[in-house]
Amino acid sequence: MTEEQRDLAQEKREKRKRVKRMKTFIVTFLSVWIMLSILLTTVLCIKVYSLQKQIDKLSESIENAAASATTVSDTDQGSVRVEPVTEAIAKENLAEEGDVHKVYLTFDDGPSDNTDAILEILNEYNVKATFFVVGKEDQESRDRMKRIVDEGHTIGMHSYAHKYSEIYSSLENFSTDVEKMQNLIEDATGVRCMIYRFPGSSSNMISNTDMTDYIRYLNEQGIAYYDWNVSSGDSTSQVYTADELVENVMNDVVKYKTSVVLLHDSEGKETTVEALSSLIERLQEIDAEILPITDDTVRIQYMTVSANN
Ligand code: ZN
Repeated sequence: MTEEQRDLAQEKREKRKRVKRMKTFIVTFLSVWIMLSILLTTVLCIKVYSLQKQIDKLSESIENAAASATTVSDTDQGSVRVEPVTEAIAKENLAEEGDVHKVYLTFDDGPSDNTDAILEILNEYNVKATFFVVGKEDQESRDRMKRIVDEGHTIGMHSYAHKYSEIYSSLENFSTDVEKMQNLIEDATGVRCMIYRFPGSSSNMISNTDMTDYIRYLNEQGIAYYDWNVSSGDSTSQVYTADELVENVMNDVVKYKTSVVLLHDSEGKETTVEALSSLIERLQEIDAEILPITDDTVRIQYMTVSANN
């Protein structure tokens, strides 16, 4: 081998080495870059998810603010006050001396274990109520929906997803959600449900689109929606004892001819279960009629849309 050939070989080797180094550098750079991207995406996804959760939580507390503003108003100054748009009904609904109080106990966000406990108590007193259920597909939940119907209570829809950001993002999402819930209830109970309670009430201000679109949709479907005019306070940020829940309801029920009472039978609402017996007893003491919602029930609604609107 001549010197020239050696030099050439040496040069080739070095070139190969350089290329190899370059390759390693590029591969490492790309791997790190991909890993960082994945990491960043994951972090962002988690962030979005937790923000979404916070929005839903906030919406929920607005729901409760709305509820307590119309009912436990003296303990709730400064919160958003939502007056029933149907003020005529609200005025007409004021009880006068000698009126029999009609009371509709409504339980939202179930079914759960607490639903069973509540059904037991209602059975014990032979009282019928209304359950606004959400989209739970498991067999146990389906059985509970069936039990609600079989035992003579009224079942209503409270949306399938119960996520404000989802159901109130567009009319299409809203109507799909209503249909999904209606089908689930029909599948579980055989009842075509025509009663609805808006998560956050008909006057909630979360939706991207106007609530009137959703109200109009329900009207078109012939689905009746019910808000409430009495809140037990069992889902407000303020935590009440069972006795206080009873007082919250009793304080308001005496004011009205028709009271639609907001209660919850979701998980964690054991205080509501605890309060129920004495609530029924107190209502019976004032000779209130405790009834399930039917077509004849006065529609307590915060917001309405007239047909030619
Ligand atoms: Zn709810």
